[in-house]
Amino acid sequence: MGIIVQKFGGTSVATAEGRAHLTRKVAEAAKHSDVVVVVSAMGRAPAPYATDTLLGLVDCDRSSAARELDALAACGEIISSVVVTAALRGLGLDAVSLTGAQAGIVTDDCHGQARIVHIDTARLVNHIKAGQIPVVAGFQGINSRGDMTTLGRGGSDTTAAALGAALGADRVEIYTDVTGVMSADPNVVPEARWQDSMTYTELIEMANLGAKVVHLQAVEIAMHSRTPLVIRSTFSDEEGTIVTDMAGKPTAPFAALRPVTAVATTGGRAQLIVEGGNLNVFSAMATNGVSVDMINVFPDRVAFIIAMADLPVARKVIDGLGHKVDVVEGCAKVSIVGEGMRGTPGIMARLATALAEAGVAILQTSDSHYSISCLVKSEQMETAARALHAQFGLGGM
Ligand code: ADP
Ligand code: ASP
Ligand code: MG
Repeated sequence: MGIIVQKFGGTSVATAEGRAHLTRKVAEAAKHSDVVVVVSAMGRAPAPYATDTLLGLVDCDRSSAARELDALAACGEIISSVVVTAALRGLGLDAVSLTGAQAGIVTDDCHGQARIVHIDTARLVNHIKAGQIPVVAGFQGINSRGDMTTLGRGGSDTTAAALGAALGADRVEIYTDVTGVMSADPNVVPEARWQDSMTYTELIEMANLGAKVVHLQAVEIAMHSRTPLVIRSTFSDEEGTIVTDMAGKPTAPFAALRPVTAVATTGGRAQLIVEGGNLNVFSAMATNGVSVDMINVFPDRVAFIIAMADLPVARKVIDGLGHKVDVVEGCAKVSIVGEGMRGTPGIMARLATALAEAGVAILQTSDSHYSISCLVKSEQMETAARALHAQFGLGGM
């Protein structure tokens, strides 16, 4: 029998109703496959065992308490794995709860943003061979010192993808509160539509550009291991979005039919233009742990964006270098994504026209093979996203 990994997000495990859907999905899959379940913490703050609620229990300097905060955050998924195991047993299924460490997930030492370096699948395989359904606490692992680590916010998806890769699973299913990957965040663009399929590359680009529907590393791992990834709803029976490399498909790839498949948004950004600044600005930002994006270098200045939360540190660093900086606070990045845009002329022209017609001012742009991003004022983010969504026919023709 092949293996299916099924991951259930916070809203799916939060309520008895969600867990009833969950147990039904697991029981159904267990009829034809070995199943490994991965769970997130239950609900969102202020739910009592949600990740942010747990992290709110202590008031401390986050950088010096990173090890303890990881131990605290990891409890949310452990509680959830026990509750879900009990629900599955209630249905007569032989389930067993495991922490990330018990599931053999070994990470590096980077507390709060750890990367999985190895998975020892021996124990999981033994449970599967014994006919049991392991219910693994997502989002966590253990480092070489034996300390708990966490994989970054949204990281339970990555636990699922990594277990799928390590076990050679037939597919990894990510169950959540939306029908699948949509053409934009439905909270920002109400006209957003569900996508039946997309490529790993497109979803990586979307996740990288702010679409929080799935953790970036989960898609990267699925792509490298060529494990099909399905994003679908816990609460309905719709097919969801199947994410593959589309290789070997007899028909033209979806991407080739449409240059743009989605719009992604990221709020909470600040634009910095450093007069007289040169490349040493970037070294200083890196030394101080400030991540930079949308980088433009000119002979007499550099421009880039950062998270608003990093602004106080960035100002101090630039002052220390003796440069003058112009800061535009309250910005958002709005991007179009599509594998088919590569080499298709006129995409930038359509983007510029759509934003101009919607009265949106573009502060800066950047682009890659598969995306074009515009920096706009936060209050224009929604207007910009909806204008681009309409321009590229994503809400239907
Ligand atoms: P879970 O708790 O199940 O992991 P998340 O909150 O992490 O769920 O991810 C699902 C949410 O992602 C959706 O409820 C939606 O608000 C958001 N989202 C952002 N962009 C998209 C998109 N393009 N398609 C679908 N959902 C999106
Ligand atoms: N519970 C963690 C978080 O809220 C991990 C996850 O949900 O995937 O980020
Ligand atoms: Mg998530």
